[in-house]
Amino acid sequence: MKKIQMVDLKGQYAHIKDRVDASVLEVIESSAFINGPEVHSFQKELEEYLGVKNVIPCANGTDALQIAMMGLGLKPGDEVITADFTFAATVEVIALLGLTPVLVDVDPINFNIDIHAVQKAITPRTKAIVPVHLFGQCANMDAIMEIAEEHNLFVIEDNAQAIGATYTSKDGTKKKAGTIGHVASTSFFPSKNLGCYGDGGAIFTNDNDLAHTIRGIVNHGMYKRYHHDVVGVNSRLDSIQATILRAKLPHLDAYNKARQDAARKYSAAFLDNEKIITPFICESCDCHVFHQYTLRLKGVDRDALVKHLNDNDIPCGVYYPIPLHKQKAYADDRYDENNFKVTNQLVEEVISLPMHTELEDEQISFITAKVLEFVNK
Ligand SMILES: *Cc1c(COP(=O)(O)O)cnc(C)c1O
Repeated sequence: MKKIQMVDLKGQYAHIKDRVDASVLEVIESSAFINGPEVHSFQKELEEYLGVKNVIPCANGTDALQIAMMGLGLKPGDEVITADFTFAATVEVIALLGLTPVLVDVDPINFNIDIHAVQKAITPRTKAIVPVHLFGQCANMDAIMEIAEEHNLFVIEDNAQAIGATYTSKDGTKKKAGTIGHVASTSFFPSKNLGCYGDGGAIFTNDNDLAHTIRGIVNHGMYKRYHHDVVGVNSRLDSIQATILRAKLPHLDAYNKARQDAARKYSAAFLDNEKIITPFICESCDCHVFHQYTLRLKGVDRDALVKHLNDNDIPCGVYYPIPLHKQKAYADDRYDENNFKVTNQLVEEVISLPMHTELEDEQISFITAKVLEFVNK
């Protein structure tokens, strides 16, 4: 059996090596390292794949979130509601821009922002909601868009973990994650579902005016050469990363399918085990692309299980061990622990198993056997 890894980027590369190597060499030969034709082609191809009017590439997923918020013209003091259970980047950029983060609890079934908690958190200063499609699963976008419309709020989707997922609305319309809110951000960090070989990110929007504003912001606030109309940033996707992403984009659906297949095999093995809650999988749609495969443990010593797996050369992860409202940087007297019942519980229970495009049946069987051996002992 091949050594089990949390993410197997080398194994994935082996299948696309010829195209990747040739196109990277071409970029080097062309010397068009920044804003070259590869970046433009990737942008167009991703717009087509997502069915969105505008993709604006940038340097990473954290920048993408920040730039999306700058583009919307959010001002210091504006309140932005987001999930307490996510990667820190989401709340970091809110704070960095002088906006007021308002963290709220999440849903125990899909780990995504709790709609009732969002409603409760809205004040006259609320300007935006940032749902995170955590672990690859779409948040409840129908409800979020309804709340936003009712209260005149912007919706910024943090789509760093769910690129390629499809959200089916109540009326049956299907849209790609990241094309439902007013604007969305994504990350091409190597381990993400569509990852490059360094840093990269992008902003998506169907609003052409907002896209124009954002294209200036990513380029020092410049709309005409050396005329700086707004305070911007320097945030670019480089041509080498773009050409790698072009090589991988045609495989994204197959990559996500491989992740879903692995998830189903894991879940089948844990079926009916009282101490394991497997992730919710909607059989009739494609709303979960398993950036992570995350279990909730009931009455299991998680640290000991982690050790048991590691002793058997099985890596695993705890995403995330501390809720954001308890992080030093984001703690705030306003927060009432009673409002974070779910996140406070999830941080104690969750464990993520190896998840990537190259998992083999033999590896999955070994992993599930070792989990069950510990849990059932
Ligand atoms: C990875 C990630 C980001 C940040 O992306 P970077 O490219 O690493 O800056 C933001 N939000 C979430 C939910 C992420 O998983």
